[in-house]
Amino acid sequence: MRGDGVNSIKHLAGIPRFYAIERIENQGCASVIHISRKPRDRTCPTCGGRGNVHGHEKRSMFCAPIGGMPTAVRIRQRRYRCPMCKRTWLEADELKSPLSSHMTNDLVTLIGVELMRRQSARSISRRFGPSKDMACKVLDAMAVPEPYLPRVLRVDELEADTDAGKTGAYAVDGERGVLVDVLRDRRPETLDAWFSRFSEGELGSVDCLCCDMRWGFVNAAERWLPCAEVRVDRFHVVRCVTKAFDKVRARLQREACISVKQDLKGARKLFLMRKPRLEDLDAKRIESGKEPLACRVEYLLGTSEELAKAYARLQAFYVWADTDFANGREMKKALGDWISQAQNCGIKEIAMAAGSIKEAEEHVLNAYRTGKTNAYAENDNRKIKDMKRRACGFANFENMRRRLLLAFGYPPMSKEGVALPNYN
Ligand SMILES: [Zn+2]
Repeated sequence: MRGDGVNSIKHLAGIPRFYAIERIENQGCASVIHISRKPRDRTCPTCGGRGNVHGHEKRSMFCAPIGGMPTAVRIRQRRYRCPMCKRTWLEADELKSPLSSHMTNDLVTLIGVELMRRQSARSISRRFGPSKDMACKVLDAMAVPEPYLPRVLRVDELEADTDAGKTGAYAVDGERGVLVDVLRDRRPETLDAWFSRFSEGELGSVDCLCCDMRWGFVNAAERWLPCAEVRVDRFHVVRCVTKAFDKVRARLQREACISVKQDLKGARKLFLMRKPRLEDLDAKRIESGKEPLACRVEYLLGTSEELAKAYARLQAFYVWADTDFANGREMKKALGDWISQAQNCGIKEIAMAAGSIKEAEEHVLNAYRTGKTNAYAENDNRKIKDMKRRACGFANFENMRRRLLLAFGYPPMSKEGVALPNYN
């Protein structure tokens, strides 16, 4: 086969020019390109004599897919024999990847890119042809980014069911949104081992540590990060309060009579909504002649005094969280008021939440004073969950760490896509 068409097929499949395409075969689920090498160098590697063709060998390997179809090349290689020293050898094969004799170099690169785009080994296998194990081989050979300490370090727990246990932890560069590392668990020993790999200068360069309200990370920061201000992620603070309220609702729901039970369950999201947001929604509902949601909330709160009390505390917390205070003192006083009211409201779930906020009060105030949102927290968690679902879980911790670092450990690519070249 000759001509421009052949060259473009070579280009698409990543076949160098000195291979000749003999024919292309369509096998239904894959295309096979039969190629042979134009004779080039036949110098004997031992004595430098000129080899004679002694026979042929045929091998197949997957290459970059053409037209969305798995594509393989079937290569016909000459075997040479030296008449002087009797040595035989196969002609060179530049296509083959050093990683596997069943994949071309281009395909290995392509699989690497797909793995970084969070595609599962299974989907890569289906689209490109090589087995799942071969895709995993590429994964094992890829270089993952080295952990570093960013100026703003965000750490959080990670639910992961691997050989290392059910929960791990991860660290994120809070300013760039890049995953820094994944840890086996959040035990003090593990955190110590992780921090100990960095130099004193690196540890001193961390200005801020954002974490949840439990003490593992906070204590580690006290031991290792001399200059860091500890902030509790605002997301975790709000979740602590909403979770407490939800526990109250669930308890009352269990105790309620049949008619109220279903309503209480259905109103879960309504309760957790901020009041101004509920009013916004209602304005639209009234316009279109529907019953306002506030009426439903009012009715349900009427069924239990305890629920009404808990709801009042929740909304009071939202008000505190959304208020722009003139100074830190006022903010601290308002939070103190909320905590004491919540602790004395007679509902144990709410009181406990207030207790944990009180314990971490200084770090909570740090987070709200700077006004920096940590939208990344929720975002990372969701992305990682998505990825775990796509991979149908990870059995092996090291595998999970590699995959997550490859997917999230590099700065995100531009959201605008790639611009087409301008020919005008
Ligand atoms: Zn020779």
